[in-house]
Amino acid sequence: IVQLYSPLHFFGTYYRMIQQNFVDMENMFDLLDEKKEVLDKEDAQSLVVPQGKIEFKDVNFHYAPERPILKNVSFTVEPGQTLAIVGPTGSGKSTIMRLLFRFYDIVGGKIFIDDTDVQDFTQTSLRQAMGVVPQDTVLFNDTIFYNIHYGRVTATDQEVREAAQHADIHEKILTFPDQYDSKVGERGLKLSGGEKQRVAIARTILKNPAFILLDEATSALDTQTERNIQTALQRVCLDRTVVMVAHRLSTIIHADTILVLRDGIIVERGRHEDLVSDGGEYCRMWQQQLEANNNASSSQAGNETQ
Ligand code: ATP
Repeated sequence: IVQLYSPLHFFGTYYRMIQQNFVDMENMFDLLDEKKEVLDKEDAQSLVVPQGKIEFKDVNFHYAPERPILKNVSFTVEPGQTLAIVGPTGSGKSTIMRLLFRFYDIVGGKIFIDDTDVQDFTQTSLRQAMGVVPQDTVLFNDTIFYNIHYGRVTATDQEVREAAQHADIHEKILTFPDQYDSKVGERGLKLSGGEKQRVAIARTILKNPAFILLDEATSALDTQTERNIQTALQRVCLDRTVVMVAHRLSTIIHADTILVLRDGIIVERGRHEDLVSDGGEYCRMWQQQLEANNNASSSQAGNETQ
């Protein structure tokens, strides 16, 4: 009995882990196809050639009825625009991302993609249109080539290399013992957080999705790596609709819209300059980050003179 149950238990556990942590959901979903909790409508249509518009209209959501998580959340992201979501831990930022990927069905309101209810699309076509760059990319125990090629299995070798170049990881791969044929993952080469993220970006470039869901890494990487990743991200985000959960406000200065979420309610919205001059919650967060940065750089300077 234990043997019979353990595979199911395994899938159930992983399904929840992916839902929860937004870890490489694209990969995992292929592996776990049979464990879907959200079902397609019988006459569900394919989301082909997406224009890239997202709309949340009075969205209400809870994981458990006694605890509402999102309360009347409304926003629109026009094709090609970037929406950044900020707010304290537990405010519901990742939940919005999970709903876009339709991990769960909402309990009130509507979510539209290109003016059509997400529930009218097949989940496969919806997820095909979304590229995810998670905080923590899990690599397959396979070659680096395989890990990038996965983004679009019909891609040629040349396209894989170009994607790696655009993601700023190509040069690094050439230093590996077997270059693109080098094994990575748990049983192969260990890549740093920044390298794994660039593999995820290369994979997303290859996938060429209309939407990018980006979960920014909480911890800042060293300055050069950070710069490389920002450049790679800017390339992949160009001309696509981007929804990002942001932790470092410096990365969202140019976002078209910033939503400040608190306890599942949008408490402020606007562009960076406007929110800063409004002097509200966002402004406080911004000042806190500036102070933290100043303290970090002055202690750095102190160290250097010692
Ligand atoms: P963080 O910045 O820490 O990632 P967040 O703003 O992304 O936080 P969410 O992950 O969206 O927050 O979670 C919102 C709330 O929903 C939290 O209080 C969390 O405990 C709760 N929650 C998240 N997932 C589940 C779940 N599967 N079942 C029950 N409650 C959940």
